Amino acid sequence: MSWAPRPREKMAQTITFLKCMECGAENSRPFIEWDYIFKIVEGEKCPKCGGTRSKIVNIYVPEKKETK
Ligand SMILES: [Zn+2]
Repeated sequence: MSWAPRPREKMAQTITFLKCMECGAENSRPFIEWDYIFKIVEGEKCPKCGGTRSKIVNIYVPEKKETK
């Protein structure tokens, strides 16, 4: 193989927090491009009530690198 994947930092995962607009439950999932806070996301099912509309309430960005 001439192609090798770069080693990734497993902990450096950006997490998007969503709040269901139907029942208010908060869920989280890996960040997807174009996510931003207060964006209304449609088509992602709430695991609690099955609602498909949720709002992004927070985005957790891990620190990229620890400089020691
Ligand atoms: Zn819900």
